Amino acid sequence: MGAHHPEQPARLSAIEDQLIASGLGQLLARYEAPLATDEQLARVHLLDYVQAIREVAPRAGTVHLDPDTAMNPYSLQAALRAAGAAVLATDLVLARKHNAAFCAVRPPGHHACRARPMGFCIFNNVAVGARHALQAHGLERVAIIDFDVHHGNGTEEIFEGDEQVLMASTFQHPFYPYSGTDNPAPNMVNVPLAAGSGSKELKKAVLEEWLPALNEFKPELILFSAGFDAHAEDDMAMLRFTDADYAWVTEQVKAVADRYAQGRMVSMLEGGYALSALGRSAVQHIKVLAGLS
Ligand SMILES: [Zn+2]
Repeated sequence: MGAHHPEQPARLSAIEDQLIASGLGQLLARYEAPLATDEQLARVHLLDYVQAIREVAPRAGTVHLDPDTAMNPYSLQAALRAAGAAVLATDLVLARKHNAAFCAVRPPGHHACRARPMGFCIFNNVAVGARHALQAHGLERVAIIDFDVHHGNGTEEIFEGDEQVLMASTFQHPFYPYSGTDNPAPNMVNVPLAAGSGSKELKKAVLEEWLPALNEFKPELILFSAGFDAHAEDDMAMLRFTDADYAWVTEQVKAVADRYAQGRMVSMLEGGYALSALGRSAVQHIKVLAGLS
């Protein structure tokens, strides 16, 4: 995204460092993310949009897609692999090779709309994974949990009214991208949180809003839009989640996955810009996904 941009390569090293420091890293199986195909992307995006992104990708220098979202000569590869990671993770989990997968990917995806890049996002990675589960594997019900501090407007645009997908999210409001307050369809469980909200408000949202909807929906697979920018140390926004909150929310969702989805979970990295808090929080989340907490 350019120098001094918060969506920076060091985010992935911060997660890797904490995986090593915690000892968790050596217990995980690693996979290289493949490039997503046009067929996989076109389940979510207009094919014209995918082709336009391929064409606009620069051979040198930087191209701005919108004021927040840029591409350099490596961005197309990264975006295709971020979406491809969702596909491979879904394949591995549905093949029972692993119960759960975490995809440490950049760029993030949940603001990317059907035909528009937005907010550091080019392709909607979590949506590509969800549609792959539904269309390539024949699942009938997939849930998406989004605890990024920003509302996943792209994911909502793609799935609103889609009865095969339930999306449950918490996000700061009013705040970028200024969407998500009124639930646009019964399959959207939006819980906007006021600036300053923390563990207490998160727990209330999960226990009173998410869990009843998830228990009624009975998902066969759960995907996460795992953004860690609601952490108290992250000054991108003004929520006050703690490291332990990320373990707690993952435990609550894992219990639903164990009940209805044979424990199957796929998690995609979204935001999280305070490097130390990002690494620590991701480890809390991954530890629970891996069944090691
Ligand atoms: Zn975010």
